[in-house]
Amino acid sequence: MPETLISVDLKASPYDNPKIHNRWHPDIPMACWVKPGDDFILETFDWTGGFIKNNDSADDVRDIDLSTVHFLSGPVGVKGAEPGDLLVVDLLDIGAKDDSLWGFNGFFSKKNGGGFLTEHFPQAQKSIWDFHGMFTTSRHIPNVKFAGLIHPGLIGCLPDQKMLNMWNEREVDFIATQPDRVPPLANAPYPSTAHSGQATGAVKDKIATEGARTVPPREHGGNCDIKDLSRGSKIYFPVYVDGAGLSVGDLHFSQGDGEITFCGAIEMAGWVHMKVELIKGGMAKYGIKNPIFKPSPITPQYNDYLIFEGISVDEYGKQHYLDVHVAYRQACLNAIEYMTKFGYSRAQAYSILGTAPVQGHISGVVDIPNACATLWLPTQIFDFDINPNAAGPTKLVTPGIDMPLSLDL
Ligand code: ZN
Repeated sequence: MPETLISVDLKASPYDNPKIHNRWHPDIPMACWVKPGDDFILETFDWTGGFIKNNDSADDVRDIDLSTVHFLSGPVGVKGAEPGDLLVVDLLDIGAKDDSLWGFNGFFSKKNGGGFLTEHFPQAQKSIWDFHGMFTTSRHIPNVKFAGLIHPGLIGCLPDQKMLNMWNEREVDFIATQPDRVPPLANAPYPSTAHSGQATGAVKDKIATEGARTVPPREHGGNCDIKDLSRGSKIYFPVYVDGAGLSVGDLHFSQGDGEITFCGAIEMAGWVHMKVELIKGGMAKYGIKNPIFKPSPITPQYNDYLIFEGISVDEYGKQHYLDVHVAYRQACLNAIEYMTKFGYSRAQAYSILGTAPVQGHISGVVDIPNACATLWLPTQIFDFDINPNAAGPTKLVTPGIDMPLSLDL
């Protein structure tokens, strides 16, 4: 058996685990060291560190302090890694922890993070998903079952000081353009909830003060939330510091393209079995700025889709110029509207788009003034026929218990 280099106790606070951190900073001490060619296991908390519970209330989604996330396992030092190298990471396998065979999906309140469709879903809601081997179902979303496409939402190497300073500067400047926006444009460093791993004293203080928040994807990868970066993938990460400092977390049992619900995919605690190797000087050799990766040889086979189109005219009729964000939002809203005709609540339909192996495609970006995006809804995840026909939709869905909703206080 490969060695488990980082263990997590899901009953304990992630702040008490010195091999966990929740900021990006070059001075976060390595939690452990490996050699190129080694394979090993890292256990992870779910991204909230256990704050979201397996129950029928969305109060936790409403009340979470988002300055605490994401809780990452690492950094893992790789002997011989130097700035300019590529760190090659094989995701040999990923799974849920035996004592936590469930995950969650939710929508944050607009006042606390929001989500892709926050104007339409401004209050906190949650669905719980149970794992049955490689499949998942939810007591809050009836008549749907699908195979997991397990992947880390967040994985990457530590930035160097120059890159960290660049991140902070550009994001703080961006926030200043609209400082009162709800939800905010970005998240600045926030010392009081920083977890700096094993750091102590002045180093700990420096990490807390300067450490970049983990929410956005950046040049190093990080919180990319790519559903196809699943077990069996091989990733090539830029290295910026000696030892590389690889960290991982935010495991997802499954996710639709875009992770549109933000809280998030089907979020879970679990473990990652990985192997590392180096390509010396690989960044310059291959012209790499952002990570690249090879997909998994095994992915769930869904070969029939109902595909929803969206264009860059927003839901209020306003024209936008080739705006893919607006176009994808329309495709999602069109799919939600359609699913309600079969008996789903709008929230249930939104949650399906955030969790199931839904594909999102940028279909056209040149036909002025409208971009076109498509949302591919796999029809085989439903235990009834969701295709249109001459007889019209039959309400096959037994509503069950709808997703719990918690109003803002
Ligand atoms: Zn996530």
